[in-house]
Amino acid sequence: METKKEQLEEKPLLNFIEAKIEEDLKLGKNNGIVYTRFPPEPNGYLHIGHAKSICLNFGIAKKYHGKTNIRFDDTNPVKEDVEYVDSIKEDVKWLGFDWAGEYYASDYFDQLYLWAEQLIKEGKAYVDDSSQEEISKNRGVPTSPGIESPYRNRSVEENLTLFRKMKAGEFADGQCVLRAKIDMASPNMHMRDPIMYRILHAHHHRTGNKWCIYPMYDYAHGQSDSIEGITHSICTLEFEVHRPLYDWFCEALHIHHPQQIEFARLNINYTVMSKRKLLQLVKENYVSGWDDPRMPTICGLRRRGYTPESIRNFAETIGVAKRENVIDISLLEFCVREDLNKRALRTMAVLDPVKLIIDNYPDNQTEMMDAVNNPEDISAGTRKVPFGKELWIERADFMENPPKNFFRMTIGKEVRLKYAYIVQCTSVDKDEQGNITAIHCQYLPETKSGMAESNRKVKGTIHWVSAAHCKEAEVRLFDRLFAVPDPDNVEEGHTFLENLNPDSLKIQTAYIEPNFLDTKPLTKYQFERIGYFCIDKDSTTDKLVFNRTVALKDSWAKGK
Ligand code: ATP
Ligand code: MG
Repeated sequence: METKKEQLEEKPLLNFIEAKIEEDLKLGKNNGIVYTRFPPEPNGYLHIGHAKSICLNFGIAKKYHGKTNIRFDDTNPVKEDVEYVDSIKEDVKWLGFDWAGEYYASDYFDQLYLWAEQLIKEGKAYVDDSSQEEISKNRGVPTSPGIESPYRNRSVEENLTLFRKMKAGEFADGQCVLRAKIDMASPNMHMRDPIMYRILHAHHHRTGNKWCIYPMYDYAHGQSDSIEGITHSICTLEFEVHRPLYDWFCEALHIHHPQQIEFARLNINYTVMSKRKLLQLVKENYVSGWDDPRMPTICGLRRRGYTPESIRNFAETIGVAKRENVIDISLLEFCVREDLNKRALRTMAVLDPVKLIIDNYPDNQTEMMDAVNNPEDISAGTRKVPFGKELWIERADFMENPPKNFFRMTIGKEVRLKYAYIVQCTSVDKDEQGNITAIHCQYLPETKSGMAESNRKVKGTIHWVSAAHCKEAEVRLFDRLFAVPDPDNVEEGHTFLENLNPDSLKIQTAYIEPNFLDTKPLTKYQFERIGYFCIDKDSTTDKLVFNRTVALKDSWAKGK
């Protein structure tokens, strides 16, 4: 994996979208204005792929002193909900962006309807009574022309009457549709008389029961862009083949014509990104909710401990491309690690504890050791950590028969207890099965951290917590939600659910330093030598709960 720096250095000064915008600016198009929009459909929570689109749209507008709208593409009342609208707004704000205008495609239903009548009057649209199956079948295949509908040449008057009846609710769902009259022989299937309106007797979360006909995406999207004065309509690659249709509607209606520009959607390995699949994971309880910290959703990443900065840096690092590719999830993890290193408060926590007894340390004595809250940020200050005769250390930090390069604790060797003393391990206690129940050591009083004589060298430093003072905390250790890089790649009759990683969540009880600066949900900590953690919303004053955001080092690549 390349480092972030290398990736940034390789990038050309302008990406292809910026190059196109600068060309337009030079030509004096749009009076020098750059106006973009982020157009989510409110049918689910946003995911990291949307974050890329958000960063791109808002980032470009910012760079060219323009503006960005948020527009909810709410043309499918059956799947959409205000819950999603609210979550989307929250997530965009959290990512650090502010929109110029908040709009809804449904705001334009009246205008879209009038334009549809206009197209009918100009002989450019017709009501088709064919069934859905007939329409699909007669569209044919790209290599040979489709078959024209028997209703294609209805008179303007008949079409107008029928369309008004559609609107008035005189037909049942699916009984007829309004189609644009374009070209049934076009090699581009989207130009073969695309459907503009369908009948749907459904309640809409904003327009209520006012409408029983709803515009299709292709008819609503470009016109909504146009109404808002959008100059550059940035979308993902699968819409490239829709562009001629986008252009056709703007031309046919003689309205402001935004430039559609396509880029490759973000794909990340070890996860799925379609809202339909994410919804299934939630609905069928494979995860605890949209904000389950294993989800690729923005709210999931937030709860996991990701920062907006880390996600924006990730979007910046991957850049924009014209060809589909898959980004390694370790790059996302790299970005959050880098950001948390700068801002996370340090604390010591022991996840897999074994007792360490300092035989020559006075009974019942407590010392308060000075510890640095964040070596990357001196302004974060210092704290006092209680130290005593009995400590907890990580089981993995002791080995009875260590290999040559093991510099942690072993009998007869010295090791430093972070912020405290150098100790020399003397013996271990074991139970009948031979498991180690306690480790004994002697401390060297003159080696206390910060004292003049303390610069005695030892190769290893380990962390600890005082058994008499520490708190218990629940720690949730997350791993990748899917066990394979491409969970969507399944053979027929199988589902992506079979690729779920059965070990994606491990819950442990940890011992942790008692003095917390902050126990508000989302507060970020580095558990020294272990990883980055943040306080979960399930945390209470009686029971701290931490989520592991990411381990300190990338252990996946080596371990699996
Ligand atoms: P999904 O397929 O997950 O349901 P969608 O494309 O239908 O996603 P929308 O709500 O329509 O979701 O997307 C809003 C905007 O976000 C669109 O402009 C879309 O192109 C963009 N977007 C969606 N997914 C990605 C992705 N993986 N990478 C980049 N942009 C994306
Ligand atoms: Mg969509």
